[in-house]
Amino acid sequence: MAIGCPICGGETGEVPNLFCETYGRLRFPGVELHHHECRSCGHGLLLHDLPLERLYTVAMATPMDHGRDVRLDFITAHLDLGRVAGAVIEIGGGPGELADQARRAAGKDRAYVVDFVSRVAFPNLDFVKVDLNSEAIRLVESFDTQAAHLFLLSHLLEHLEDPAALLTQLQRFENSFAFIEVPDFGSRHSPATLQWQMNGLEHVQYFNDASLIELLHKGGFQVLAFETQAAPNMTVIRTLCAPRRIGAAGIEQHNALYHLIVERFRSKILSEPPGREVWVWGLSPYMAEALTQSDEARGRISGIVDNRYPGSTFLGLRVFQEPGVAPDNRPLILCGSTYSVVRSAFLAKATKLWPDAEFFTVSLDD
Ligand SMILES: [Zn+2]
Repeated sequence: MAIGCPICGGETGEVPNLFCETYGRLRFPGVELHHHECRSCGHGLLLHDLPLERLYTVAMATPMDHGRDVRLDFITAHLDLGRVAGAVIEIGGGPGELADQARRAAGKDRAYVVDFVSRVAFPNLDFVKVDLNSEAIRLVESFDTQAAHLFLLSHLLEHLEDPAALLTQLQRFENSFAFIEVPDFGSRHSPATLQWQMNGLEHVQYFNDASLIELLHKGGFQVLAFETQAAPNMTVIRTLCAPRRIGAAGIEQHNALYHLIVERFRSKILSEPPGREVWVWGLSPYMAEALTQSDEARGRISGIVDNRYPGSTFLGLRVFQEPGVAPDNRPLILCGSTYSVVRSAFLAKATKLWPDAEFFTVSLDD
């Protein structure tokens, strides 16, 4: 049976999955299994005809062994939990141990576990019933889509027939963050890793780093942090991501900052008393633009010092390679650069050569 890769659309081929085939024969005689692997991205897909209610029995409701549980450490290393003004929401959370860890770390009284059946084992967690395979749309009905929530999807996506459908719903929470962890089939496994059940009938998707990133990319998420955890630890991939904001990035944001800095230089020049001698050190693009835009600002400049400008004048102003003798009326030096190293070097030079001058750099405060 030809099956397209659910992640990249590439061609897949059927491969044996020996453990699952034998396990299936032992527990569910007659079950038919097919394991497919994508020839392009390596993503795996395990298909069988078992009804989910036969797979997910109450007997499986035991807390998962993560070995060294560093999930919260990873989250807090990459996200200031003070930014989570909304709720902590674990999806497919089972007992909800990660939800409770994150709830305490974020200083919340309550947190939520969303799952198809309640197995919640912590008193401060509220349960929200959602079948993630068929009614993920209920997430946007249950939680404020504008709030900054922290969604936790720990060992969930590998269970879903259509993980992209869930991400489509999560993407609508445009101010939220999502932590995702799945087993990693893109790195080397060893006997030690068999203590964690990463290969089993309840797993449909077999991710690797490429297929998880592809899923996130197509789902409209920005990857904020990503790591793989290798054997002999549990072989997993984890990521912190957020819905990508259209138009928030790209060179346009730099163009806006350019105008902002130009304006700060221009207003500083124009705010100086008329008799003051003002010198430019460093003819950066910002400074050049400020002097180009405003005849009045340009008229206030006594001279420019810049050892990389190829000419001897700029818009009629003299450009000197190096500063000359210090003026004796406490001049103002405007450092045209926004680079910290250049600013420090110019300040050191100004302190030495023109010790009475006021040295000014534009504020880079937000
Ligand atoms: Zn693929």
